[in-house]
Amino acid sequence: MIQPLKAKSRENLGRIMNRYYEGSHAEAAKGKFVIWIAIIVPTELLKGFDVIVCAPESHSAMCAARKMSADQCEKAEMEGYSIDLCSYARIDLGTVFDQGRGSPTMGLPKPDLLISDNDNCSLLTKWFDVYHRELGVPHFMLDVPFCYKPQQEKDLQYLLSQFQDLIALLEDLTGRKFDIDRVRAAVGETNEAMKHWVRFLGLAAHRPSGNTAFDTFAHMAPYFTWMRGDPEVTAHYRMLADEAEAELAAGKYPVPNEKYRLLWDNIAPWHQLRKMSDRLAEMDANIVYSTYASSVGRIEDRLDLYEWDGSDPLRYLARIQNRGWCCYGMDLRYKALSEMIERFSIDGLVFASNRSCKVYSVMQMDLKRRLSRELGVATVMIDVDHADVRKYSEENAFLRLEALLEQLDGGKAALEAV
Ligand code: SF4
Repeated sequence: MIQPLKAKSRENLGRIMNRYYEGSHAEAAKGKFVIWIAIIVPTELLKGFDVIVCAPESHSAMCAARKMSADQCEKAEMEGYSIDLCSYARIDLGTVFDQGRGSPTMGLPKPDLLISDNDNCSLLTKWFDVYHRELGVPHFMLDVPFCYKPQQEKDLQYLLSQFQDLIALLEDLTGRKFDIDRVRAAVGETNEAMKHWVRFLGLAAHRPSGNTAFDTFAHMAPYFTWMRGDPEVTAHYRMLADEAEAELAAGKYPVPNEKYRLLWDNIAPWHQLRKMSDRLAEMDANIVYSTYASSVGRIEDRLDLYEWDGSDPLRYLARIQNRGWCCYGMDLRYKALSEMIERFSIDGLVFASNRSCKVYSVMQMDLKRRLSRELGVATVMIDVDHADVRKYSEENAFLRLEALLEQLDGGKAALEAV
């Protein structure tokens, strides 16, 4: 079994997240302007207004982690939405169609504005368009250029011009003047929070690792709330990194007999966090790092913190629009993965082919071949759905994971099977 460490930070995480969901409903009930965003949309920019910000994707991840996703998905499917659509979308649509019933938070407070972007996927913009039609609220879409190579200046300028459009729209809808000083303060807090986050992720370099990727998945949550940019979130990440460092120094490891160090590529399997980590730990295997958790605090193929230089905060926010993994081209992904393999002494890569998130999964087969060929690293492909447990088979996944571990032990027959 995985060792349950970082107790103080876990408790604090629960407190922050409860405050977020309860606070959102309470503030909305008092008449505050509510915005639903795609998670990559820069929350800090919205702090320039007095608004509440909620992220349907985060709500869906929480439903999945609490094993409530299948029922919510079915509600959307009953309305004619295909089971092939992203499970995040189906969970949240199902929740909205059923007036919040079946959600641990009774869904999200009704929005006054929707802001999506397309740097993760275009499905997301269509998903938000459903709310635009069903709920009758405006929908602003940030058009983020795909990132085949590191972001170019013209793309950054294009984003900045859209930020100005968004600010003008918000001034119009809220009747308030944009306050850049509040944005600057929020970006300063985010920058500080990310220093601690990257310090925490870096503990995976130790043998045995100070982390499992499963810890890192859970603690991503506060970053994706409207509290990002608040001192409370910075304090959380400081506490997390400090606690993890202290436990590491005291010789406490999540998988004390760690023999196999694995890297995870794709979104967290929210419905399997405990089960998968425990079962791997029983085999002395630890997923020590992931592309998913590393999409916070850094950008493109750099593993180190992407730091704010203290200049224009909007420019920083435009630059980190290209931090998500989904919008990267093949070469960027390859470079980032190669660097992760080296820095974290990775023995094997787990490509989680995600039935929902095609855009995350689309290049995995090519990456798998290229990494095996050029770096000789062991790899495996397993089928998952990050939020719809009905599309995941634990036995099939572990058949392959066990074969990967056998391969690492030198079993050629297992290599063929993978
Ligand atoms: S398909 Fe992937 S990127 Fe798009 S909303 Fe779903 S999980 Fe997010």
